[in-house]
Amino acid sequence: PRKLADRLSAVAPSATLAMAAQAARLRSQGHKVYPFSVGEPDFEPPRHVLDAAKAAIDKGVSHYTAVTGTPELKAAICAATERDRGYRPAPNEITVSCGAKHALFNVALGLYEPGDEVVIPAPYWVSYPEQVRIVGATPVIVETREDQGFRMDAASLERAITERTKAIILCTPSNPTGSAYAESDLRALLDVVRRHDLWLVVDEIYADLTYDGFRHVSVPAMAEDLRSRTIIISGVSKTYAMTGWRIGWSITPPELSKVLDVVQSQSTTNATAVAQVAAAAALSGPQDAVREMRDAFAKRRDRMVEGLRSLPGVRCRMPEGAFYAFADVRGLYGIPYKNGTIQTDLDVAMWLLEEAHVASVAGTPFGAPGYVRFSYACSEGDIEGGIEAIRAAATAAR
Ligand code: PLP
Repeated sequence: PRKLADRLSAVAPSATLAMAAQAARLRSQGHKVYPFSVGEPDFEPPRHVLDAAKAAIDKGVSHYTAVTGTPELKAAICAATERDRGYRPAPNEITVSCGAKHALFNVALGLYEPGDEVVIPAPYWVSYPEQVRIVGATPVIVETREDQGFRMDAASLERAITERTKAIILCTPSNPTGSAYAESDLRALLDVVRRHDLWLVVDEIYADLTYDGFRHVSVPAMAEDLRSRTIIISGVSKTYAMTGWRIGWSITPPELSKVLDVVQSQSTTNATAVAQVAAAAALSGPQDAVREMRDAFAKRRDRMVEGLRSLPGVRCRMPEGAFYAFADVRGLYGIPYKNGTIQTDLDVAMWLLEEAHVASVAGTPFGAPGYVRFSYACSEGDIEGGIEAIRAAATAAR
């Protein structure tokens, strides 16, 4: 047959999923594997959400909906955005998709063209640069520093901008670092966005998971004048432990929503009807479960970071949000492993899995060699057990 499209030849498959597959293999051999690689809450969605979905099935919610989401879900998103983020979008600014990842992909199709450059601070969520590549545009990676909280500053952003720059993608709180931009950090970046007439994409999927009173501030709530160039990405996956329901959305200027409607009408049509009912129930119903999950994550964060810091050769910054600890593991290089020694973060992640049965994700796929991401979306018992397993493996190896 004739050859496959070139489009994907330079695109990497998801590294996070590869590690999960390896961990699943060990588990199937009967081993206990500490699950620090996962990117989803271990909780169940709130009971009332599941009840609303069941009732919807019985009521016959089984058909196509409007392409960009039901009026009920859009109204729930508008109200929840006002309640939780301090500004009220209009329904025609909302595009409901099959998860935030899909929302980001639609935005990539609607906004970036070959020749465009899209600025992405590293460490980055793996899908940002790959989605930019899939549509033929060029990711421009800006390194950030741990001692600056892994936050891109205005000067670094300014240096990365050329006449081809189309957009910037920010993730706050961040996967993989858990670091978040305070209002003052954002203000400095917004000045640059304004001056250079750029689009700003802000992925807020972890915005409800911040700790120690850290206040997430949404760009549209602080800069009304930038609403015509700001794209907000969010969803129910992380806040309500609803990863499998696949509901996420973008909030964009109506000109872009119209394009996203076209993209989606020619690809997936609407997100699953019942899932839209469940998402609306999650957003509109009691929010106690969100607070309870956040409190549990806060405790786990402290355990994970304290545990990692207690390991010789590991350093770890205290993250403001999400459910990841991002540790500098370069102090583990040199530990004997297989026929040689540990030399990279990829070696560390493999060593952790094989010698300590701890699943993690190496920093390199996130654009951060020398680091490893540890998810704490698991029980405190697992966190303690995993840390002690690492300590034992390190002691045995040295
Ligand atoms: N954005 C970030 C930063 C994420 O970490 C994830 C999931 O891991 C997503 C988006 C995708 O979320 P969804 O499940 O809504 O597609």
